[in-house]
Order: sequence, then structure tokens, then C-alpha cells
Amino acid sequence: MRIVVLAGGIGGARFLAGVRAFAAAGGHEVTAIVNTGDDVTLHGVRICPDLDSVMYALGGGADPERGWGRAGETWAVRDELAAYGAEPTWFGLGDRDLATHLVRTRMLAAGYPLSAVTEALCARWQPGIRLLPATDDRMETHVVATVDGEAAPRALHFQEWWVRYHAEPPAQRFVFVDADQAKPAAGVLDALAAADVVLLAPSNPVVSIGPILAVPGLRDALVAGTAPVAGIAPIIGGAPVRGMADKCLTAIGVEVSAAGVGRMFGAAGDGGLLSGWLVDPVDAATTVPGVRVLARPLLMTDEAETAAIVTDAIGLARG
Ligand code: GDP
Ligand code: CA
Repeated sequence: MRIVVLAGGIGGARFLAGVRAFAAAGGHEVTAIVNTGDDVTLHGVRICPDLDSVMYALGGGADPERGWGRAGETWAVRDELAAYGAEPTWFGLGDRDLATHLVRTRMLAAGYPLSAVTEALCARWQPGIRLLPATDDRMETHVVATVDGEAAPRALHFQEWWVRYHAEPPAQRFVFVDADQAKPAAGVLDALAAADVVLLAPSNPVVSIGPILAVPGLRDALVAGTAPVAGIAPIIGGAPVRGMADKCLTAIGVEVSAAGVGRMFGAAGDGGLLSGWLVDPVDAATTVPGVRVLARPLLMTDEAETAAIVTDAIGLARG
């Protein structure tokens, strides 16, 4: 079976570890289409936070406590940059992590598309699944918000809003800058066309899954495709399991609930995506018109438990 997963960073990585375990047991093939809306250029290097979170986590190189960046990280470069007063100082650029960004930046400058760069980086990390950026084009998520002390709202890069301001300035809207000119990355449409099932990881629906679906042609390929889609709710009991997805949902006027997110993705056959939607038992009363809803525990406590979630998701998708 060919399994395609749409995923963001940390939540996506945890979920993908379970998908990989499920696939290894059954001889299945996995392709992850990963959000690139968080990507940013800082200190002259190109940073792809979600791709790197997934690559490091699946490759055994992630810091298990922080959840992002490299294990055994040191911060000499960050401290030296701060000593120069070089802005921005709010982004934690680790020494080990920096090597990844240097390799990436150099390859991009030489003309390689991000998909080829990702493949090259993965030759080292051997994540055990195929990682594809949603797009090879530059398409960044910006947030329109009024920062404390400022008179008027302005657009700031998602990373600045999220990391520097902890998503505190209320977001008025999200803009996927240059989305109109973006195309699915090399391999993305082929992977979707060949898929037997598509899973939406319990990633942030607005700023992780949203930008992937905003790449022109990608959502259409899912809607028109024959592979059934199942999603896993990132919201349990009306709150995100971790992170600030509630602030993102509120900004776009979607109820912070498993039902709200399920309805946002919508039913297959009705212009939406979902055949199946998994919710936690505390949300067992959830209904999404036209979608099979299954309640089962959704905490990704370890790889085996996550693989069991994946088993149920694929069963639900395939009816
Ligand atoms: P990011 O890009 O690093 O922010 O990570 P993602 O967007 O991939 O994932 C963040 C989302 O994962 C948050 O909205 C969390 O609610 C969700 N999440 C994290 N852990 C779990 C879990 O154990 N179960 C479920 N259902 N969702 C989770
Ligand atoms: Ca992210």
C-alpha cells in the first residue's frame, strides 16, 4: 500500500514515526508532504523548521526534550551573533543545526530545488520514509497582527509571531505570501496520484496543513483523487494537545474543537477532503456531515500507540 501523509513539524514528526512503524510491519511505502510555510531566511541561511523537525526526529537526531532542533546542541554561533548585536536574536540557531542550513543554502544557491536538497539531507538521516516539501517555490506564512505597543497591525513572518511573540498578538489573518505562484514540489502530484490512502497528521490545521493545501493544484489533486483521506484531530476536549493552534483557529473563525477542524477540512464528495475523521473519546459526540467519525484515544504517547492510531485511521479511510 502507498501511504501519503500531510504533516507539519513536531506533531507531524511524532505521527510519522507511528506511520513508519505501521508501514514497516506491513511492507508499505510512505511519503510525507511537509509544510514549508514556516521556512525563513535568517542570518543569510535558509531554514526549513518543519522539514528539519521531521528529518531529525525520524533520523534519530532530534532533541527529545525540546522537541525541535538537534540532540547535543551547542549555541556558540548564536551567542557570538548576539555579541555583535546581529538581529534577529529571538531565533535559536544551534551550531549543529546551522550545518544543515549551510548545506541547504549552498545547494539552493547552486540551483537545486528544495525537494532535491531535502533528498540530499535525508541521505545522511535515513528517515525511512520519503520526505517531500509541499512546494519547491518560496511561499511563506505571514500573520497580520498588532504587536504590543504598536499603533497599527502589520504583517510579520509566522516564525516571528510564533517564536518571538509566542502567538500573543491576536492574529487578524494569515497570508500565504506568493502562494498564487507556487507549484507542488517535484514528486508531490505523482505521490498523490499513486496513493492508496492519504492521512492528515494531527498537525496545526491552520499553519501546518493549511499552507500545504494552499499550494495551487494540491488540494484539487486530493479532492479529485481516488485515494480516501482520513484525518486525526489535533484538538482534544476543545484545546490543542500542545502549542497554540487554538489562537490560529480563532483567527480564521473556526471553532476550537475536533468538530470545528473536521468541518473545516470538509467531506469528500462534497468538495472537501475527508472520508474519515478520528477524534478522542472525550469528543465522541463529534459529528462532521458526510464523514465517518471514529472515537479512539489520540494521544501519541509512544510509537506503538501512534501506530495503532494509524491502523485505525487507515481502516476508517478505506471504510
Ligand atoms: P509544529 O509545526 O512543530 O507546530 O507541529 P505540527 O503542526 O505538526 O503539530 C502541532 C499540533 O500537534 C498541535 O496542534 C497539537 O495539538 C498536535 N498534537 C501534538 N501532540 C499530539 C498528540 O499526542 N495527539 C494529537 N491528537 N495531537 C497532538
Ligand atoms: Ca511548523
